Amino acid sequence: MSFWDDAYRATPPWDIGRPQPAFVELVRNGELNPGRVLDVGCGTGENAIFLAQNGFLVTGIDFVQNAIRAAKARAAERKVKVDFRVGNALSIESGKDEFDNVVDSGLFHIFSDEERLVFAQEAARILRKGGNYFMMCFSDKESTDWGGPRRVTRREIRQTFSRLFKINYIHDTLFATRIHNTGGRAYLTSATKD
Ligand code: SAH
Repeated sequence: MSFWDDAYRATPPWDIGRPQPAFVELVRNGELNPGRVLDVGCGTGENAIFLAQNGFLVTGIDFVQNAIRAAKARAAERKVKVDFRVGNALSIESGKDEFDNVVDSGLFHIFSDEERLVFAQEAARILRKGGNYFMMCFSDKESTDWGGPRRVTRREIRQTFSRLFKINYIHDTLFATRIHNTGGRAYLTSATKD
């Protein structure tokens, strides 16, 4: 059993039972393009459900079957329509669909250097021109004492995405978890496909 499958046998630290405050703020500020959203590495679906409740047409993919099962159950319970599917963010099955937005809460920071480049290409491929990518990852300002995923620098984000995207900003933000009081120090990136 992989680390990720195993993580969902209990409640993982990132599964906070509500959408991430940084993404709630993005919606409040009207930063997403209207229309379709792909939530990559959607976990149990809180962000995707929140977006659907706010008028977006949302697809959520995660490669852990149990996470997708839980996401589907939550959406059904709350009577919200989201297309949750098991899928790999490094090889996205999108058919003819082009997305207006891709959201990434805590996926990018788990990738290796090679995977980062593959993922950036995949995100660009499935977005329409002018489509937005929003990404939250732990930053180099967060302590490594507790382990967890890679800490990412602004420079690494620029290096990965600037060939295919215009980077609008990389802001300091907080990643809410079950193990931090106020959240882990993180970056919120907004980028637009050229
Ligand atoms: N976005 C969710 C989960 C973050 S944890 C949230 O904010 O709560 C990272 C998620 O990415 C996990 O659910 C893990 O199963 C998923 N994941 C990791 N690698 C993946 C890949 N290559 N394709 C799809 N999902 C992946």
